[in-house]
Amino acid sequence: MTDISIRTAGQAGRITLRRPQALNALTYQMCLDIEAALDRWRNDPGVAHIVLDAEGDKAFCAGGDIAELYETGRAGDFAYGRRFWADEYRLNAKIFNYPKSVVSFLQGFTMGGGVGLGCHGSHRIVGESSKIAMPECGIGLVPDVGGSLMLALAPGRSGEFLGTTGWRMAAADAIYAGFADHFIPETAWPDLTTALETGGIPDDILTSAADPGAARLDALQSDIDRHFAGETLGDILTTLEQDDSPFAIDTRTTLARNAPLAMACTVEILHRLRGPSLSIQKALELEYRFTARAMEHGDLLEGIRAAIIDKDRCPQWQFANQRVPAIAVSKMLMPLGKDALKLEENAMTHPKIGFIGLGNMGAPMAANLAKAGMTVTGFDPAGTTAKGVAAANSGPEAVHDADVVLTMLPDGEILRAVAQELLPQMKPGALFLDCSTVDVQSTRDVARQAASHGLNFVDAPVSGGVGGAAAGTLTFMAGGSEAAFAAAQPLFDIMGQKAVHCGAAGAGQAAKICNNMILGATMIATCEAFALADKLGLDRQKMFDVVSTSSGYSWSMNAYCPAPGVGPQSPADNGYKPGFAAELMLKDLRLSQQAAEAVNADTPMGARALELYRQFVEDEGGRGQDFSAMLPRFADRDRR
Ligand code: NAD
Repeated sequence: MTDISIRTAGQAGRITLRRPQALNALTYQMCLDIEAALDRWRNDPGVAHIVLDAEGDKAFCAGGDIAELYETGRAGDFAYGRRFWADEYRLNAKIFNYPKSVVSFLQGFTMGGGVGLGCHGSHRIVGESSKIAMPECGIGLVPDVGGSLMLALAPGRSGEFLGTTGWRMAAADAIYAGFADHFIPETAWPDLTTALETGGIPDDILTSAADPGAARLDALQSDIDRHFAGETLGDILTTLEQDDSPFAIDTRTTLARNAPLAMACTVEILHRLRGPSLSIQKALELEYRFTARAMEHGDLLEGIRAAIIDKDRCPQWQFANQRVPAIAVSKMLMPLGKDALKLEENAMTHPKIGFIGLGNMGAPMAANLAKAGMTVTGFDPAGTTAKGVAAANSGPEAVHDADVVLTMLPDGEILRAVAQELLPQMKPGALFLDCSTVDVQSTRDVARQAASHGLNFVDAPVSGGVGGAAAGTLTFMAGGSEAAFAAAQPLFDIMGQKAVHCGAAGAGQAAKICNNMILGATMIATCEAFALADKLGLDRQKMFDVVSTSSGYSWSMNAYCPAPGVGPQSPADNGYKPGFAAELMLKDLRLSQQAAEAVNADTPMGARALELYRQFVEDEGGRGQDFSAMLPRFADRDRR
């Protein structure tokens, strides 16, 4: 029997670890084989997603095969370990950034290298037997394989706690700490796997998800935060030593077993990582500074000796009194210069983009991508173009060989037609990024079609209007897998100021229609208030000056004032030529009312806004005017 089974089954790329007798410990060769398979499947249209699992009920994967490392290190060959870690970390980053969904089933132990394999995909499933941990400090290593990323993001100071103690997380804890996504009873796993092989999509899994119960980690959070908030390992130990609670005593006992240098470096790594520039690359690069030095200058060989060679469980650590000087930490975490970890460049750094729909919004968005140095080819049947964007004569020509196809279209029907035509033309593994505002059902249907063509899909409708599109300050509300969202992030960064991942495909549209229901109602309220102010003889500028700084303020008043010559430049200053056309607002209000009907939500203001925009667009000549042209409509009318 081989250590690993790599195959395709139906539409799934299947990877099964088959070393149950060794708790599926990951060897160097297994890493290389998995990476090669992921590379092969990335652009294979026959592979819709990856399913990772393991034989045996004791472990998904209890870690990297450290016996292998020990032999080479003892022989003075430190290069082997460095090569192994560099290759393993490249695999971890590949899983994290993989353009297709990666579903992992994590029974029993998932530790260390197992976390790097099983906890970076898009759908991380845990069950009753799951025990997840980063126990590296117990052998003189820091939490690695990208685990420091999750630890840095875990609630409060639980990252420092989990990383230094190696505490075992049950399913609920793992979800709480961000190492897993869904709890599904393990009896359901075989059927789910079959479904994923035979036409199901990973998001369908969510319907089988159950409540994992309360996280023990949550209950410990205040103790953890109290004791693990210090700057250094020394600070943490000092507060624990001053407390005789069961938590403090247990934790001190655990920390006394682990390598002080590794624990001190773990704390420092998490402190350095936390913050807005956190990324998997940064986490792996910092971990690698330690691991590259761990055999030669750290305690790793001694840790492995005590744990699995002599099994005396009595390691002779450096800094045995647990007081690790700052200089020792700095030496382990100094940059490695030319030997620094090199991960493959993310293909999304310079993607080729096909842009479909160069209207009021699409044209400036495409221009911003081109300005940022991306190769953008655009198509719009109306013949519109955008600055810096190569014009194609057809949709298929625009999307040929594109890494990303971005659509900015009027409605769901047109989106479906465009998807029907273009999805089969797209490069396998590419991303279909729809930024139009459309109905949730069209989005979900197109997402399914994209998956069936081996493509990634993200719905990311926007807020911010033409001004935001031109200035690159849009807000994106996105739906889709974590991996697909991550792939789209560099583009969101260029075109917008913020992107919120709202959930699975369709969730972005749900957020958008709720937002626009508010916008429709507030624009009407703003316009009718101006019309009333006119009749009361109140100057519009004075009205703006008061309301824009009082409790009646809103985006409609402050950023998009419907009164010409008042407030910042807006379509009102341009004869109500759209910005955001009234018929598009009508469309959005229809979408929100349809959605409200479907889920039986009571939305009387939304319903009234819909009726007023319908009247304006269909009966009163509002089509082709900006949605803020409601102001002249109210101003010209007397109460009947
Ligand atoms: P728009 O009408 O100006 O642009 C849509 C473009 O799609 C047009 O240029 C049209 O020619 C093109 N198009 C139509 N059918 C096509 C096809 N089959 N293939 C390719 N292109 C096709 O609309 P917009 O204001 O740019 O809005 C686009 C989307 O963004 C809409 O879904 C809208 O609801 C949403 N949106 C608009 C604003 C806004 O302020 N304008 C704000 C947020 C969201």
